[in-house]
Amino acid sequence: NRQIQLASRPTGEPGVENFKRVDIPIPELSEGQVLVRHHYLSLDPYMRGRMNDSKSYAQPQPLNEVMIGGTVGEVVASKNTHFAVGDSVVGMGGWQEYQVVDAQQRGVLQKVDTTHVPLSAYLGAVGMPGVTGWYGLVKIIDPKPGETVVVSAASGAVGGAVGQLAKVRGARAVGIAGGAEKCRYVVEELGFDDCIDYKQHQDVRSLSAALKVACPQGIDGYFENVGGMILDAVMLRANPFSRVAMCGMIAGYNGEPIPMTAPQLILVNRMKIEGFIVSEHMAVWPEALKELGTLVATGKLKYRETVAQGLDSAPEAFLGLLKGRNFGKQLVKLI
Ligand code: NDP
Repeated sequence: NRQIQLASRPTGEPGVENFKRVDIPIPELSEGQVLVRHHYLSLDPYMRGRMNDSKSYAQPQPLNEVMIGGTVGEVVASKNTHFAVGDSVVGMGGWQEYQVVDAQQRGVLQKVDTTHVPLSAYLGAVGMPGVTGWYGLVKIIDPKPGETVVVSAASGAVGGAVGQLAKVRGARAVGIAGGAEKCRYVVEELGFDDCIDYKQHQDVRSLSAALKVACPQGIDGYFENVGGMILDAVMLRANPFSRVAMCGMIAGYNGEPIPMTAPQLILVNRMKIEGFIVSEHMAVWPEALKELGTLVATGKLKYRETVAQGLDSAPEAFLGLLKGRNFGKQLVKLI
């Protein structure tokens, strides 16, 4: 069983030297255990935070252990009556080819139906990123028909879902993304009303002027994935009683400062700003997954994947995700 472990902790920007590949034998299955062969690994921005030793809402990734991560695959051996060989499953198998799972514990491994939804989508639109978008939009922003919702990292796994779910609720959806190609995709494929290429804007004033054009009625809801200049520009266009779902601040994940230059606007506009961690809201997952699964199965929720080939490509693909080289959900295909 080949796996990628965390070899050392980065200071600032991580590099491939922070990871190492090891080959370990697969243990014999005990009663209740299941052997899963992974088809896809999920690469997600939160993994950057886990590479640090600092105190956060989650435990750091231990050194010299397999990198944490979501996985989909198939059961290839089972000593558990609830799982049969051939079952498609989603779990937290980490950056490795196989995983022995103690499947007696509830929730560690979920069977999934691949009749109408492709297996890989359970790591994206019908998985953790999709539920993240759903939670921030539905439970925090709660858009009314005709309101305007802005989302950053709009072409990504989370952002793409946010805008489409906002459209389903009758809101105007405006994305912010890096590059003309991503923006074109957000509008033409995902059906957002508009998308701004933040790379065309050097400062807050310029980006905020573009937002004024894209959001003529102002901004009622903002789904934050990035932080920094983008947040500042949105704040300048926020309407009274607007809501901000603080989901991610990827611009600061390598330790860069991300100051907020006009926090007084929170008061002036009586804004609600709420941070959330999707794994702390397991109660809403069934409702969210039901809507996301139905929308994907009926072709009403679109998504895009960037697929790196083979386990060894995982570190490089992960570093690319932190630089915006991915276009849509970043996966690693193992078989
Ligand atoms: P994406 O698929 O959106 O990939 C990350 C994207 O972030 C890149 O493609 C890039 O898009 C953008 N990006 C990267 N670096 C920067 C930067 N310095 N400045 C601006 N944009 C940057 O990832 P996800 O959809 O998986 O995650 C999106 C956000 O959601 C992340 O912040 C993540 O941490 C957060 N998240 C939070 C969860 C929670 O529970 N709170 C759960 C899951 C995700 P571009 O080229 O457009 O700049």
